[in-house]
Amino acid sequence: MDKIELNSLTLEELEKFMVGIGEKGYRGEQLFTFFHRNYGHKIEDISVFSIGLRDKLKKFGRVNNIEVLKRFDSNIDNTKKYLFLLEDNNIIEGVVMEYKHGLTVCISTQVGCKMGCSFCASTKEGFIRNLSPSEMVNQIYSMEKDLNKKISNIVLMGSGEPLDNYENTLKFLYIIHHEKGHNISYRNITLSTCGVVPRIYDLADEGIPITLSISLHSPLDDIRSNMMPIGNRYSINDIINSCKYYYNQTNRRITIEYTLIEGVNDRDRDLEEIVKILKDLNCHINLIPLNPIEEFDEERPTGRSAQRFRTDLERAGIPVTIRREMGSDISASCGQLRRSYIRDRDRKTFQ
Ligand code: SAH
Repeated sequence: MDKIELNSLTLEELEKFMVGIGEKGYRGEQLFTFFHRNYGHKIEDISVFSIGLRDKLKKFGRVNNIEVLKRFDSNIDNTKKYLFLLEDNNIIEGVVMEYKHGLTVCISTQVGCKMGCSFCASTKEGFIRNLSPSEMVNQIYSMEKDLNKKISNIVLMGSGEPLDNYENTLKFLYIIHHEKGHNISYRNITLSTCGVVPRIYDLADEGIPITLSISLHSPLDDIRSNMMPIGNRYSINDIINSCKYYYNQTNRRITIEYTLIEGVNDRDRDLEEIVKILKDLNCHINLIPLNPIEEFDEERPTGRSAQRFRTDLERAGIPVTIRREMGSDISASCGQLRRSYIRDRDRKTFQ
């Protein structure tokens, strides 16, 4: 029988688990606090439990751990990028960015990604597996421990598609939010998706008011589907309708991510269409300068063109922000670091 990954369980599940092995339910809460408030990760360190109970726990359960493999510090700003080693030797990445209002962490939800977006490095080596809830929280705990600072905001914008790993992502959200653990407000959490429409409806019904961020990148179905294969399954119209539903259920303004690509999605026609499709949606647009990767032979627009795009959108009544580039000297864009590390390592292995 496989042992249960204890630090991936929600508080309610831990209480049930404890009752299931013949213990009192409140032991589950003690365990939850040990993992998620105190960064505990070894069963033998749970001093509130007797040695007998620790042995019993070890018989039925295990604790998942991740290790910091490498840290890259930006010389431009305080951005720090981490490579983490998982128990099965897979590698994932996470980022910490320092803003005026505190530390924001960006974490991964999968090893690799199956979405196949043409501009994104995370998907180029394909999909390996989903991350468990503990592997998601542990990215945050590792960064906090390493920096000796608490984080205030979380974005699920690292490698992977969170809505393609729905159950684990949801458990992660419950765990990281819980007041007996890290107690991060849902309002300080953003989930970014390429547009897995049925899961957007599901998420809207969960009653957790996190910010939903949609990777739009083009208002035209044919151009979008060319860059983002998910567009062949769900149209832009489907996505916008699901966003309206999300807004009605959660009252949270939607974020639209828009990576500007020279001549592809920064033309007048794109502007007109964006204004048309977003006119009844309570949203704001976050313009992202393209981070060029090897296989995607396109250019980012010059700064002036991004500014013009911004001004025109604002004139049409759509709130806009331009994403400040963080840690551009440490290839802080999705999946780039993991990829170059794995390549280097493999090159060395095969030499
Ligand atoms: N799978 C999710 C979350 C991960 S990507 C999603 O698709 O939203 C986080 C954001 O970075 C997405 O908006 C993605 O489209 C964007 N992104 C990926 N590669 C990029 C690149 N090379 N340059 C700029 N933005 C990129």
